[in-house]
Amino acid sequence: MLGFFSSPTLVHHDTGPAHPERPDRLRAIHRALRASKLLSSPDPFPEFDLDLGLMPDYSATPLTELAPNPADESLPLLVHTPAMIEKMKTAISHGQAHLDPDTPVSPRSWEMALLSLGCVIDATAAVVSGKCRRALAASRPPGHHAEPDRAMGFCLLSNVAIAARHAQRHHGVGKVAIVDFDVHHGNGTQAAFDDDPSVLFISLHQHPRTCYPGTGYEWEIGVGKGVGTTLNIPMNPGGDDADYLREIDQKVLPKLNDYKPELLILSAGFDAHTDDPLAGMNASEDGFASITQRLTQAANTLCNGRVVSALEGGYNLRALARSFAKHANALAIT
Ligand SMILES: [Zn+2]
Repeated sequence: MLGFFSSPTLVHHDTGPAHPERPDRLRAIHRALRASKLLSSPDPFPEFDLDLGLMPDYSATPLTELAPNPADESLPLLVHTPAMIEKMKTAISHGQAHLDPDTPVSPRSWEMALLSLGCVIDATAAVVSGKCRRALAASRPPGHHAEPDRAMGFCLLSNVAIAARHAQRHHGVGKVAIVDFDVHHGNGTQAAFDDDPSVLFISLHQHPRTCYPGTGYEWEIGVGKGVGTTLNIPMNPGGDDADYLREIDQKVLPKLNDYKPELLILSAGFDAHTDDPLAGMNASEDGFASITQRLTQAANTLCNGRVVSALEGGYNLRALARSFAKHANALAIT
């Protein structure tokens, strides 16, 4: 069973109508999951207008909707500094408009950051407790750019990093692997586990010379005891599905096989899609399904199929929504 954690409330992290990381991303995903029959509950956003084109029928493998709880206020401290959290809460409560030039906030953004984090933590808990074989979180704000001491790049809390740490501390999980296929380098997740060999972090992303945030070079391999448990795979702009699958087959899968994680978490961004406005890669919706299938097959072999997927980027609404549905189906059927 594939558990699905999301909440329509998450539209209340209001980044303004012109921002790429906008509430309509959530509306688009909810629409696509119903158009593809992965969900049969009423669409929480019936007024939302989006032409998705023809959608596949995935009614044979529906998602199981589960209600997320907001994360407890103490959980961000598993990764973030108390000073960073205080600064963010103060900025939001004082009506500050931005945490950094790319990262707008609104009055309910702290509450929404905890709920977004809660979706990823609950998805992870559902998998490690055996309640679900796999789980998928569609939540925002995203997390992989948020570093231990600062919010950045549309990200408030380092959702996946906190969920990984929570699984270790509260569910007795040992080694965790995180594979981040968002088009941007997952600098925040990397920073959280730079010197920690108990978490393997692998990021495939557009080359840092050509893309935000300008980190994620091959020579970033971890520090101290963590040397060797960070793997960065920068991709040249214009790379397509075949390039992604080649890098996964030649670099990612061997690394996962050597590491033997007990849990695989995906930082699932869909901004490597050819139609995405923020980057220059040429992945397709079927490509995301194939990437998902490869990684899930590895989890079937290595860690009893335990995969958690958490939404990161993806900024063309139609491409995001269609890709997300294919990703969900690949998680369900592999
Ligand atoms: Zn991204």
